Amino acid sequence: MSDTKKIDVSRDFVDGLFDIKGKVAIVTGATGALGGAIAVAYGMKDAKVVLTARNEERLAAVEQQVKYEGGDCIVVPADPSDPVAFAKVIAAAKKAYGGIDILAVAHGYNHPQNILEQSVEDWSYIMDADLKSVYIVCKQVAEEMAKAGKGGKIVVVSSARSKMGMAGYTGYCASKGAADLMVQSMACDLSSKYGINVNSINPTVFRSDLTEWMFDPESAVYKNFLKRLPIGRLGEPYDFVGMAIFLASPASDFLTGGNYDATGGYWAC
Ligand code: NDP
Repeated sequence: MSDTKKIDVSRDFVDGLFDIKGKVAIVTGATGALGGAIAVAYGMKDAKVVLTARNEERLAAVEQQVKYEGGDCIVVPADPSDPVAFAKVIAAAKKAYGGIDILAVAHGYNHPQNILEQSVEDWSYIMDADLKSVYIVCKQVAEEMAKAGKGGKIVVVSSARSKMGMAGYTGYCASKGAADLMVQSMACDLSSKYGINVNSINPTVFRSDLTEWMFDPESAVYKNFLKRLPIGRLGEPYDFVGMAIFLASPASDFLTGGNYDATGGYWAC
Protein backbone atom coordinates (compact mmCIF):
# COMPACT_ATOMS: atom_id res chain seq x y z
CA MET A 1 0.00 0.00 0.00
CA SER A 2 1.07 3.62 -0.50
CA ASP A 3 2.06 5.66 2.54
CA THR A 4 -1.21 7.63 2.45
CA LYS A 5 -3.27 7.13 5.62
CA LYS A 6 -4.79 3.63 5.68
CA ILE A 7 -8.58 3.53 5.76
CA ASP A 8 -9.68 2.05 9.08
CA VAL A 9 -11.97 -0.78 7.90
CA SER A 10 -10.63 -4.32 8.30
CA ARG A 11 -11.71 -7.47 6.48
CA ASP A 12 -12.47 -9.28 9.75
CA PHE A 13 -14.70 -6.43 10.84
CA VAL A 14 -16.66 -6.42 7.58
CA ASP A 15 -16.89 -10.23 7.49
CA GLY A 16 -18.35 -10.29 11.02
CA LEU A 17 -20.88 -7.50 10.59
CA PHE A 18 -24.03 -9.66 10.56
CA ASP A 19 -22.66 -12.48 12.70
CA ILE A 20 -24.79 -13.55 15.68
CA LYS A 21 -23.38 -17.08 15.94
CA GLY A 22 -23.41 -18.34 19.53
CA LYS A 23 -25.36 -15.33 20.83
CA VAL A 24 -28.29 -16.08 23.10
CA ALA A 25 -31.50 -14.49 21.84
CA ILE A 26 -34.85 -14.35 23.63
CA VAL A 27 -37.72 -13.88 21.15
CA THR A 28 -41.11 -12.91 22.62
CA GLY A 29 -44.21 -13.42 20.49
CA ALA A 30 -42.37 -16.35 18.95
CA THR A 31 -45.72 -17.90 17.97
CA GLY A 32 -46.60 -14.89 15.80
CA ALA A 33 -45.87 -14.16 12.16
CA LEU A 34 -42.98 -11.78 12.82
CA GLY A 35 -41.66 -13.38 16.02
CA GLY A 36 -41.70 -16.79 14.34
CA ALA A 37 -39.76 -15.47 11.35
CA ILE A 38 -37.22 -13.80 13.64
CA ALA A 39 -36.81 -17.00 15.70
CA VAL A 40 -36.26 -19.21 12.66
CA ALA A 41 -33.85 -16.68 11.12
CA TYR A 42 -31.82 -16.27 14.32
CA GLY A 43 -31.62 -20.07 14.54
CA MET A 44 -30.37 -20.23 10.95
CA LYS A 45 -27.71 -17.65 11.89
CA ASP A 46 -26.57 -20.05 14.64
CA ALA A 47 -27.82 -18.02 17.59
CA LYS A 48 -29.19 -19.95 20.58
CA VAL A 49 -32.84 -19.04 20.63
CA VAL A 50 -35.22 -18.88 23.59
CA LEU A 51 -38.76 -19.02 22.22
CA THR A 52 -41.49 -17.55 24.39
CA ALA A 53 -45.20 -16.77 24.04
CA ARG A 54 -48.39 -18.01 25.73
CA ASN A 55 -49.66 -20.64 23.28
CA GLU A 56 -47.76 -23.86 23.99
CA GLU A 57 -49.01 -25.74 20.95
CA ARG A 58 -47.84 -23.03 18.57
CA LEU A 59 -44.55 -22.72 20.44
CA ALA A 60 -43.93 -26.43 19.88
CA ALA A 61 -44.50 -25.95 16.13
CA VAL A 62 -41.99 -23.07 15.96
CA GLU A 63 -39.50 -25.08 18.02
CA GLN A 64 -39.86 -27.92 15.53
CA GLN A 65 -39.12 -25.61 12.59
CA VAL A 66 -36.11 -23.95 14.25
CA LYS A 67 -34.66 -27.40 15.02
CA TYR A 68 -35.52 -28.78 11.57
CA GLU A 69 -33.44 -25.95 10.08
CA GLY A 70 -30.51 -26.94 12.31
CA GLY A 71 -31.07 -24.26 14.96
CA ASP A 72 -30.57 -24.59 18.70
CA CYS A 73 -33.55 -23.46 20.82
CA ILE A 74 -35.54 -23.94 23.98
CA VAL A 75 -39.18 -23.12 24.66
CA VAL A 76 -40.42 -21.29 27.75
CA PRO A 77 -44.14 -20.45 27.74
CA ALA A 78 -44.95 -17.16 29.48
CA ASP A 79 -47.23 -14.15 29.35
CA PRO A 80 -44.87 -11.16 28.83
CA SER A 81 -47.08 -8.87 30.88
CA ASP A 82 -46.55 -11.09 33.96
CA PRO A 83 -43.18 -10.24 35.57
CA VAL A 84 -43.10 -13.44 37.62
CA ALA A 85 -43.73 -15.60 34.56
CA PHE A 86 -41.17 -13.72 32.46
CA ALA A 87 -38.51 -14.07 35.18
CA LYS A 88 -38.75 -17.81 34.50
CA VAL A 89 -37.86 -17.18 30.83
CA ILE A 90 -34.72 -15.37 31.92
CA ALA A 91 -33.82 -18.08 34.43
CA ALA A 92 -34.27 -20.76 31.75
CA ALA A 93 -32.12 -18.84 29.26
CA LYS A 94 -29.34 -18.51 31.83
CA LYS A 95 -29.56 -22.16 32.84
CA ALA A 96 -29.55 -23.47 29.26
CA TYR A 97 -27.16 -21.03 27.63
CA GLY A 98 -25.41 -19.04 30.38
CA GLY A 99 -26.77 -15.54 29.68
CA ILE A 100 -28.67 -13.29 27.29
CA ASP A 101 -27.18 -11.25 24.43
CA ILE A 102 -30.22 -10.33 22.35
CA LEU A 103 -33.86 -9.60 23.14
CA ALA A 104 -36.34 -9.39 20.26
CA VAL A 105 -39.73 -8.18 21.50
CA ALA A 106 -42.25 -9.35 18.91
CA HIS A 107 -45.47 -9.91 20.84
CA GLY A 108 -48.45 -7.62 20.47
CA TYR A 109 -52.20 -7.32 20.20
CA ASN A 110 -54.87 -5.07 18.75
CA HIS A 111 -58.63 -4.91 18.82
CA PRO A 112 -59.69 -1.79 16.90
CA GLN A 113 -62.69 -0.02 18.42
CA ASN A 114 -64.09 3.48 18.23
CA ILE A 115 -63.33 5.26 21.50
CA LEU A 116 -67.06 5.78 22.02
CA GLU A 117 -67.63 2.04 22.02
CA GLN A 118 -64.46 1.02 23.85
CA SER A 119 -64.43 0.28 27.57
CA VAL A 120 -61.57 1.47 29.75
CA GLU A 121 -60.84 -2.22 30.42
CA ASP A 122 -60.49 -2.97 26.68
CA TRP A 123 -58.18 0.02 26.23
CA SER A 124 -56.09 -1.02 29.25
CA TYR A 125 -55.79 -4.56 27.90
CA ILE A 126 -54.18 -3.20 24.72
CA MET A 127 -51.89 -0.93 26.73
CA ASP A 128 -50.77 -3.91 28.85
CA ALA A 129 -50.23 -6.16 25.81
CA ASP A 130 -48.35 -3.56 23.74
CA LEU A 131 -46.66 -1.32 26.30
CA LYS A 132 -46.51 -2.52 29.92
CA SER A 133 -45.35 -5.97 28.81
CA VAL A 134 -42.66 -4.37 26.61
CA TYR A 135 -41.43 -2.44 29.63
CA ILE A 136 -41.39 -5.60 31.77
CA VAL A 137 -39.44 -7.79 29.35
CA CYS A 138 -36.97 -5.02 28.42
CA LYS A 139 -36.39 -4.08 32.08
CA GLN A 140 -35.83 -7.66 33.20
CA VAL A 141 -33.49 -8.50 30.32
CA ALA A 142 -31.61 -5.19 30.65
CA GLU A 143 -31.02 -5.95 34.35
CA GLU A 144 -29.44 -9.27 33.39
CA MET A 145 -27.38 -7.72 30.60
CA ALA A 146 -26.15 -4.95 32.91
CA LYS A 147 -25.22 -7.50 35.59
CA ALA A 148 -23.33 -9.66 33.08
CA GLY A 149 -21.44 -6.59 31.83
CA LYS A 150 -21.16 -7.77 28.22
CA GLY A 151 -23.61 -5.34 26.62
CA GLY A 152 -26.41 -6.54 24.39
CA LYS A 153 -29.03 -5.71 21.80
CA ILE A 154 -32.70 -5.03 22.41
CA VAL A 155 -34.97 -4.90 19.37
CA VAL A 156 -38.60 -3.91 19.91
CA VAL A 157 -41.19 -4.50 17.20
CA SER A 158 -43.30 -1.35 17.28
CA SER A 159 -45.47 -0.16 14.36
CA ALA A 160 -45.66 2.48 11.66
CA ARG A 161 -48.82 3.46 13.56
CA SER A 162 -46.62 4.75 16.40
CA LYS A 163 -46.24 8.04 14.54
CA MET A 164 -49.75 8.46 13.18
CA GLY A 165 -53.30 8.09 14.48
CA MET A 166 -56.05 5.98 13.00
CA ALA A 167 -59.77 5.48 13.61
CA GLY A 168 -60.33 2.80 16.24
CA TYR A 169 -56.67 2.80 17.30
CA THR A 170 -56.65 4.91 20.52
CA GLY A 171 -55.07 1.97 22.37
CA TYR A 172 -52.78 0.64 19.65
CA CYS A 173 -51.36 3.95 18.39
CA ALA A 174 -50.92 5.25 21.93
CA SER A 175 -49.12 2.11 23.09
CA LYS A 176 -46.85 1.96 20.04
CA GLY A 177 -46.06 5.69 20.22
CA ALA A 178 -45.15 5.26 23.87
CA ALA A 179 -43.09 2.16 23.04
CA ASP A 180 -41.04 4.22 20.56
CA LEU A 181 -40.33 6.83 23.22
CA MET A 182 -39.56 4.10 25.74
CA VAL A 183 -37.00 2.70 23.28
CA GLN A 184 -35.40 6.13 23.02
CA SER A 185 -35.40 6.57 26.79
CA MET A 186 -33.99 3.08 27.39
CA ALA A 187 -31.18 3.90 24.97
CA CYS A 188 -30.37 6.93 27.13
CA ASP A 189 -30.38 4.76 30.27
CA LEU A 190 -28.53 1.74 28.91
CA SER A 191 -26.26 2.41 25.94
CA SER A 192 -23.20 4.38 27.03
CA LYS A 193 -23.17 2.98 30.56
CA TYR A 194 -23.91 -0.69 29.85
CA GLY A 195 -23.25 -1.15 26.11
CA ILE A 196 -26.85 -2.14 25.45
CA ASN A 197 -28.26 -0.91 22.14
CA VAL A 198 -32.02 -0.39 22.10
CA ASN A 199 -33.90 0.15 18.84
CA SER A 200 -37.33 -0.45 17.38
CA ILE A 201 -38.49 -1.70 14.02
CA ASN A 202 -41.69 -0.01 12.86
CA PRO A 203 -43.58 -2.10 10.30
CA THR A 204 -46.63 -1.32 8.17
CA VAL A 205 -48.59 -4.35 7.00
CA PHE A 206 -46.89 -7.74 7.04
CA ARG A 207 -48.76 -10.95 6.37
CA SER A 208 -50.06 -12.60 9.56
CA ASP A 209 -53.26 -14.35 10.67
CA LEU A 210 -54.67 -10.94 11.59
CA THR A 211 -53.66 -9.08 8.41
CA GLU A 212 -54.28 -11.86 5.86
CA TRP A 213 -57.59 -10.24 4.83
CA MET A 214 -55.74 -7.06 3.76
CA PHE A 215 -53.82 -9.03 1.12
CA ASP A 216 -56.87 -9.53 -1.13
CA PRO A 217 -55.82 -7.56 -4.26
CA GLU A 218 -59.48 -6.79 -4.99
CA SER A 219 -60.16 -5.21 -1.59
CA ALA A 220 -60.40 -1.43 -1.11
CA VAL A 221 -58.03 -1.65 1.87
CA TYR A 222 -55.34 -3.31 -0.28
CA LYS A 223 -55.77 -0.80 -3.11
CA ASN A 224 -55.65 2.16 -0.71
CA PHE A 225 -52.50 0.86 0.95
CA LEU A 226 -50.74 0.41 -2.36
CA LYS A 227 -51.41 4.05 -3.26
CA ARG A 228 -49.16 4.97 -0.34
CA LEU A 229 -46.56 2.22 -0.68
CA PRO A 230 -43.67 3.14 -2.97
CA ILE A 231 -42.36 -0.42 -2.70
CA GLY A 232 -45.49 -1.59 -4.54
CA ARG A 233 -46.57 -4.48 -2.28
CA LEU A 234 -47.35 -5.42 1.30
CA GLY A 235 -44.74 -7.17 3.48
CA GLU A 236 -44.07 -10.87 3.95
CA PRO A 237 -42.56 -12.11 7.24
CA TYR A 238 -39.26 -12.89 5.47
CA ASP A 239 -39.02 -9.20 4.48
CA PHE A 240 -38.68 -8.49 8.20
CA VAL A 241 -35.77 -10.72 9.11
CA GLY A 242 -32.97 -8.66 7.53
CA MET A 243 -33.74 -5.74 9.81
CA ALA A 244 -34.12 -8.04 12.83
CA ILE A 245 -30.69 -9.62 12.19
CA PHE A 246 -29.09 -6.23 11.46
CA LEU A 247 -30.28 -4.70 14.75
CA ALA A 248 -29.14 -7.77 16.72
CA SER A 249 -25.70 -7.90 15.12
CA PRO A 250 -22.43 -5.91 15.19
CA ALA A 251 -23.54 -4.15 11.99
CA SER A 252 -25.74 -1.92 14.17
CA ASP A 253 -23.22 -1.27 16.95
CA PHE A 254 -23.42 2.49 16.44
CA LEU A 255 -27.22 2.58 16.36
CA THR A 256 -29.30 3.12 19.45
CA GLY A 257 -32.55 4.88 20.33
CA GLY A 258 -33.72 4.54 16.73
CA ASN A 259 -37.25 3.85 15.48
CA TYR A 260 -36.52 2.22 12.15
CA ASP A 261 -38.91 2.28 9.26
CA ALA A 262 -39.89 -1.12 7.87
CA THR A 263 -42.79 0.31 5.92
CA GLY A 264 -42.00 -0.16 2.25
CA GLY A 265 -41.90 3.63 2.11
CA TYR A 266 -45.25 4.32 3.82
CA TRP A 267 -43.69 7.05 5.94
CA ALA A 268 -42.20 8.65 2.84
CA CYS A 269 -45.39 9.73 1.12
P1 NDP B 1 -49.37 -12.11 15.26
O1 NDP B 1 -50.81 -11.84 15.54
O2 NDP B 1 -48.99 -13.02 14.18
O3 NDP B 1 -48.65 -12.56 16.60
C1 NDP B 1 -48.86 -11.89 17.80
C2 NDP B 1 -47.94 -12.45 18.86
O4 NDP B 1 -48.17 -11.76 20.08
C3 NDP B 1 -48.16 -13.91 19.10
O5 NDP B 1 -46.91 -14.52 19.33
C4 NDP B 1 -49.02 -13.96 20.36
O6 NDP B 1 -48.58 -15.08 21.11
C5 NDP B 1 -48.64 -12.67 21.08
N1 NDP B 1 -49.80 -12.07 21.73
C6 NDP B 1 -51.05 -11.91 21.24
N2 NDP B 1 -51.84 -11.29 22.13
C7 NDP B 1 -51.05 -11.05 23.22
C8 NDP B 1 -51.29 -10.46 24.48
N3 NDP B 1 -52.49 -9.99 24.83
N4 NDP B 1 -50.28 -10.38 25.36
C9 NDP B 1 -49.06 -10.88 25.04
N5 NDP B 1 -48.76 -11.47 23.86
C10 NDP B 1 -49.76 -11.56 22.96
O7 NDP B 1 -48.75 -10.65 15.04
P2 NDP B 1 -47.46 -10.19 14.27
O8 NDP B 1 -46.39 -11.21 14.35
O9 NDP B 1 -47.87 -9.68 12.98
O10 NDP B 1 -47.06 -8.93 15.18
C11 NDP B 1 -45.90 -8.89 15.96
C12 NDP B 1 -45.68 -7.47 16.41
O11 NDP B 1 -45.59 -6.64 15.26
C13 NDP B 1 -46.82 -6.89 17.26
O12 NDP B 1 -46.30 -6.05 18.23
C14 NDP B 1 -47.61 -6.06 16.23
O13 NDP B 1 -48.29 -5.00 16.84
C15 NDP B 1 -46.48 -5.56 15.36
N6 NDP B 1 -46.93 -5.15 14.04
C16 NDP B 1 -47.33 -6.09 13.12
C17 NDP B 1 -47.77 -5.67 11.88
C18 NDP B 1 -48.21 -6.62 10.83
O14 NDP B 1 -48.69 -6.16 9.78
N7 NDP B 1 -48.10 -7.93 10.99
C19 NDP B 1 -47.80 -4.26 11.53
C20 NDP B 1 -47.35 -3.38 12.56
C21 NDP B 1 -46.92 -3.82 13.76
P3 NDP B 1 -49.41 -15.94 22.13
O15 NDP B 1 -50.86 -15.73 21.84
O16 NDP B 1 -48.93 -17.35 21.88
O17 NDP B 1 -48.97 -15.43 23.45
